[in-house]
Amino acid sequence: MQNYQMLIGGEWVDAADGQVFETMNPYLGKPWATIPRAGAEDAERAVAAAKAAFRDGPWARMNPTERGALIRRLADLIAERAEHLARVEVTDNGKLIGEMHGQLRYVPQFYHYFAGLADKLQGAVLPIDKPAMFNFTRREPLGVCVAITAWNSPLLLAAWKLAPGLAAGNTFVLKPSEHASASSLEFAKLFDEAGFPPGVVNVVTGFGTEIGEALVGHPDVAKVAFTGSERTGRRIYESAARGLKKVTLELGGKSPNVVFDDAELDNAANGVVAGIFAAAGQTCIAGSRVLVQDGIYEEFIDRLVAVAQGVRMGDPQEWDTQLGPMSNEPQFQKVLGYLEVAKAEGARCVTGGKAASRPECGDGAFVEPTIFADVDNRMRIAREEVFGPVLAAIHFKNIDEAIAIANDTPYGLAAGVWTQDMRRALTMAERLEAGTVWINTYRAVSFMSPFGGYKASGLGRENGMEAIDSYLQTKCVWLSTATEVPNPFVLG
Ligand code: NAD
Repeated sequence: MQNYQMLIGGEWVDAADGQVFETMNPYLGKPWATIPRAGAEDAERAVAAAKAAFRDGPWARMNPTERGALIRRLADLIAERAEHLARVEVTDNGKLIGEMHGQLRYVPQFYHYFAGLADKLQGAVLPIDKPAMFNFTRREPLGVCVAITAWNSPLLLAAWKLAPGLAAGNTFVLKPSEHASASSLEFAKLFDEAGFPPGVVNVVTGFGTEIGEALVGHPDVAKVAFTGSERTGRRIYESAARGLKKVTLELGGKSPNVVFDDAELDNAANGVVAGIFAAAGQTCIAGSRVLVQDGIYEEFIDRLVAVAQGVRMGDPQEWDTQLGPMSNEPQFQKVLGYLEVAKAEGARCVTGGKAASRPECGDGAFVEPTIFADVDNRMRIAREEVFGPVLAAIHFKNIDEAIAIANDTPYGLAAGVWTQDMRRALTMAERLEAGTVWINTYRAVSFMSPFGGYKASGLGRENGMEAIDSYLQTKCVWLSTATEVPNPFVLG
């Protein structure tokens, strides 16, 4: 067993009361490490360290070019340690080594992109309607930011917050999910090596209702950047509202992949499969509803079934594994529960529909790649986020019906469109209520492209230049060049 510690104020520490919890290897079904179970006192220590670093430390005096250089150094260290970080994530979280290898080679790009922005955050000199007055703006950081991440891609989701937030000059307390903390604690080791002053980034671990709530409710926290479920997002929003804190919320989805009858069906099938079976469906952008036009409905479902039945399950540490275990037991049970709900609602299970018990699945909690056909969009399997390899197939007649079904959801994170008719594709792009629309592709994300949700899928955007705005506030400075201060009793 490995015993991890947390990073607070540049020191490696246990939880104040010494409590720990065990973290599981989901493929082996066994605990492999202990993680500090932080509480309110640790929240106090971590926020105090971040506040001191923001106000008084070398970070506060550093010029933005120097800040950018540190962030670039961090990016390079992530690239150097990518293999190690990937292996830790696979061990702790059951993610595929192939996916993590790609992800951790890409994560540094987010830091490089925002490092480049650090010294380009310009204010403006404003024309002003008062005589003898000089007026200009400064773009300043907010202060202490709390980043709370979900378990499905901890280091990628952390990058989406830390990269713009640090480039803007803020300091951070990062809290990863209790289901996947180890990679963030390994990542934390890089800050000292990169040359970050103590306290600029603090990493604390534990449960949402303990350390998580204590951080969100802390009066010295200026912003909460959250990725996780809609339910937790609402709770965090309420707490942040009481403290008038700024928030960014990246929440769940029930994203539609819409396949028209003129689509290139092999490509569409690959896109739909990538959307729902990659990462075992444990992604916020899972294309968990496939909407298929009547003329190709049966044929397309048959293609999907053939692909689903050929998916290679197994040890996530093996390069050729395509589908790994559910990351944790509660998630496994949740997915199995939804399989029963779908069957009880009358959805037709055309493949999968149960836990997988193949020899290659070891002691892991695997779910067979599952497709339910003839789903009605009012069924729970079409409305609620399952977060597993479970696809709901719905048929439609024409573009208007496709749009009506696609938009009939509380969520609005992403959507896919498969057609060769570009007029139709662009009409769909315009009318779909989603923060991201992919046309003839699925699951592409980039540090350059804003990402976030419509409706219940969230608030604000991460990535792209606008992401940095949510870590900045504007100060307006007035300077009088008059030789006399005018009559104090007249507003001038
Ligand atoms: P979750 O909401 O259970 O937990 C997310 C994080 O919030 C964890 O770190 C948890 O400890 C913390 N937390 C829980 N309760 C808290 C509270 N009361 N106060 C403060 N923190 C609290 O979500 P999860 O199960 O870890 O992740 C799955 C969800 O994340 C899915 O809904 C998925 O769609 C979503 N997600 C969204 C995106 C996106 O970018 N939109 C990306 C990945 C995952």
